[in-house]
Amino acid sequence: MAEALRRLVLVLGDQLDVDASAFDGFDPLCDAVWMAEVRHESTHVWSSRIRIAMFLAAMRHHARALRTMDRRVHYVKLDDASNTGRLDTELARAVRQWAPRQLVVTAPGDWRVLQDLRRTATELGLPLEVREDRHFFCSVREFAEYARRRRTLRMETFYREQRRRHGVLMDGAQPAGGRWNFDADNREAFGPHGPVLRAQPPASPPDAVTREVIELVQRMFADHPGTLDESFSWPVTRAQARVALDHFIDARLEMFGRWQDAMWPGEPWLWHSQLSAALNLKLLQPREVVARTEAAWRAGRVPLASAEGFIRQLLGWREFVRGVYWTQMPRLAALNALDAREPLPGFYWRGDTDLACLADAIGQTLRYGYAHHIQRLMVTGLFALLLGVEPRQVHAWYLAVYVDAIEWVELPNTLGMSQYADGGGMTSKPYVASGRYIERMSSGRYCAGCRYRPGLRTGPQACPFTTLYWDFLVRHRARFAGHPRLGAQVRNLSRLAPAEIDSIAAQARALRAALREGHALTSSTATTQEGLPWTNPPS
Ligand code: FAD
Ligand code: SF4
Repeated sequence: MAEALRRLVLVLGDQLDVDASAFDGFDPLCDAVWMAEVRHESTHVWSSRIRIAMFLAAMRHHARALRTMDRRVHYVKLDDASNTGRLDTELARAVRQWAPRQLVVTAPGDWRVLQDLRRTATELGLPLEVREDRHFFCSVREFAEYARRRRTLRMETFYREQRRRHGVLMDGAQPAGGRWNFDADNREAFGPHGPVLRAQPPASPPDAVTREVIELVQRMFADHPGTLDESFSWPVTRAQARVALDHFIDARLEMFGRWQDAMWPGEPWLWHSQLSAALNLKLLQPREVVARTEAAWRAGRVPLASAEGFIRQLLGWREFVRGVYWTQMPRLAALNALDAREPLPGFYWRGDTDLACLADAIGQTLRYGYAHHIQRLMVTGLFALLLGVEPRQVHAWYLAVYVDAIEWVELPNTLGMSQYADGGGMTSKPYVASGRYIERMSSGRYCAGCRYRPGLRTGPQACPFTTLYWDFLVRHRARFAGHPRLGAQVRNLSRLAPAEIDSIAAQARALRAALREGHALTSSTATTQEGLPWTNPPS
């Protein structure tokens, strides 16, 4: 027997905020909440087990929090016998049960989900009200306005406008400290002794709810990538997220800026905040994080370069990529400006490669669902870009393996910033570098533990990043020769003899062929008679 409702409020897995706009006017007497764990959300890309567990654990805790506020929650668990595994069919089932007169949702973070919801509501003959997501500083409409006024979109100009508009790190009309940008102070490597202070982030050990989720995910997604066990310690409630924020402001923000770009083998966290997942699931609000950061600087507890460097990521990059996503979808997802066609190497899903920097970044990704920005951009992202992997495959990997991965933030970062698939729509140049960059930013530590040599372009010990970097410049010479920022790198090709350029191209071809055949570039991989590695078939 259907129970008539006024509104059914849809709460998606990344909308875990009890004050979200969808709750405005919520009346517990005649409204109810709908939440559903649907298998398809974990299988449309091959999601890692830790990412699935992160979402489900946070959703279940959120449903509990809503119930303590006397909000009726229709919650579908993944292993409910009747669960059909799809958002649309689960929603249709709930509508049949509750017979609401209207559906209400805060704007989803994923274009595909928004289309699904609209289509389902039409099929059900119900009005769907999509409300603004107040979580962000800049609405999609405001970003679209901003974009209309610009010939090219650049984060830096957007960020300055946001600072002025929201009065963040401003002294009157001037930027605090007289500068908008402290990037130049924020590019240090650790030096030979490595990171000196190691304040570990606080653990949020799994409670009974999270343990149940871990067991469920182990059982239902046994063939999915990554590891998952009771060492899972991501914040999955607002209370835990606030503890994580306190810890970051008190213990790590001070050093964040200086070592923002640094890497060190076996050290996944360094001075990074690890707040992205809590932010993206809406357990934290960017306004509170930005305000706490600015207050720490104004109280003299952290340097301005650190506070500015951190706020730039949130008020600048995070808001900017969201605007790019919503103003350019669905076209954005199909872009491939460099005509990249290679498949993603299989070792991205396993981490079993001898390239020490990649093995470390992928290994920690599969273990923790985390890698910091420079690892994502200049290790895993860089290798895929130089190799020429089809951008959609790179996108599917990033969306699958990180606990903070939601399409609005992942896709522009991957396709735009990392793979240059938008041909410079978002960034002024492709982020390309040889193995020397990784050597420098890890103070030589990655390369010291690697069988390859970052300074070598050809031969069995040549660093694949370095071979592929020079090959990238050769392959895209015509496109970038006159480029204001990349042109100088391309002109360096004139220093190389034609025979060396031929050798680089041959080695890059061999490398691609081997990876296409399934090699992981491990020590078991033999070399050919000509001394070219990787051309043997996989054992
Ligand atoms: P910190 O280094 O402490 O940075 C502070 C915060 O700033 C982050 O928590 C995040 O909310 C924000 N931030 C920093 N850089 C960016 C950025 N480029 N875009 C948006 N927000 C940013 N971030 C995601 O949240 N989800 C993703 O799926 C995601 N995919 C990425 C894919 C690629 C190829 C690249 C290059 C970057 C991606 N990023 C993504 C951005 C960034 O790498 C992560 O936000 C960051 O590493 C998360 O770790 P943290 O919380 O310790 O960040
Ligand atoms: Fe990475 Fe190349 Fe250094 Fe090895 S030599 S760690 S592959 S950059």
